[in-house]
Amino acid sequence: MEKTTSETRQKTFTCQLCGLSSPFTYVGQKPPNTRAIVLLEECFVTQDPFSPDKEKFLVLGSTCSVCSMCVCVGSDCSLFYTKRFCMQCVSKHLDQFPRQIQAELAKKKQSSKAAVS
Ligand SMILES: [Zn+2]
Ligand SMILES: [Zn+2]
Repeated sequence: MEKTTSETRQKTFTCQLCGLSSPFTYVGQKPPNTRAIVLLEECFVTQDPFSPDKEKFLVLGSTCSVCSMCVCVGSDCSLFYTKRFCMQCVSKHLDQFPRQIQAELAKKKQSSKAAVS
């Protein structure tokens, strides 16, 4: 099999939970054109289209450390606790997260759901 070396086509990041999709320019822990920034995780990064500053960038999302699904950084889709977790894995392994995080998630669930008596 031959490998093509010119991959100039724009790649698109798509969140597999909410469907958010956006082109990204870089994936990894050290976005280019930034001074000594190292991200805590491998992220999908795009240059901030609204900023003339080349060092500004936006983190679109990352891959879940458990199931390696692509998820955006929105609080409904993923959680960062030492690693990135998608919300599906968070709810599956909720008992393994610290109480503080469990409480925060419970609070969020309550506020997003209509009152259940
Ligand atoms: Zn999402
Ligand atoms: Zn996951």
